[in-house]
Amino acid sequence: MSMPTYDLICSRCDYQSSSMVTWGRFVYEDGNSAFPCKHQLGWCENCAGFVPMEAFDASDQEFQEIESSHDWLRRYSDSAWQHFLNWLIPSRRKWLTRQHDRLEGAIKVMKLSMKRKGTERCLDCGSRNVVPFRGNIGVTLADNFVFAGSSNTGFIHPHCGGEFIAKGSGTRYLVRFTTRRYDTEGERI
Ligand SMILES: [Zn+2]
Ligand SMILES: [Zn+2]
Repeated sequence: MSMPTYDLICSRCDYQSSSMVTWGRFVYEDGNSAFPCKHQLGWCENCAGFVPMEAFDASDQEFQEIESSHDWLRRYSDSAWQHFLNWLIPSRRKWLTRQHDRLEGAIKVMKLSMKRKGTERCLDCGSRNVVPFRGNIGVTLADNFVFAGSSNTGFIHPHCGGEFIAKGSGTRYLVRFTTRRYDTEGERI
């Protein structure tokens, strides 16, 4: 799979980074199962750069996941006939397990969000000295599915004073998704 990218370039010094820092698959492991580690682009003081950081913003997406998996689970187990089909057809059982996992994952994401909101950590170094990137990415997706153009983000480079400019890279990069694992306190495993 390939994805469009943009660069973040400081207007004053030669620091630059890109949207690729948040790429990858991030999961939490709580000893029983793995569930999604929601993350966002952030600035880490310790890494002195853009990093992926935890995001405890569980909301509509998780609610919808819970609602829809719960719905399917009920529909596929609301009669003896449905239970018989589940017993008979292995692919149905597999699918039902996936729905269970989805439901459980979404609940865990919501619980962790509520518990750890305000204690977000850098997913590179583990530091809590990290702030979310609150800037405007004004680049747009062009016809050929690459980010084009550039815009001021309004996000100031800490200790430097320059402003980050978002600039479409004009190309797509091949994504090789590796999985990064963390415990539920955000410690890399
Ligand atoms: Zn700078
Ligand atoms: Zn860091």
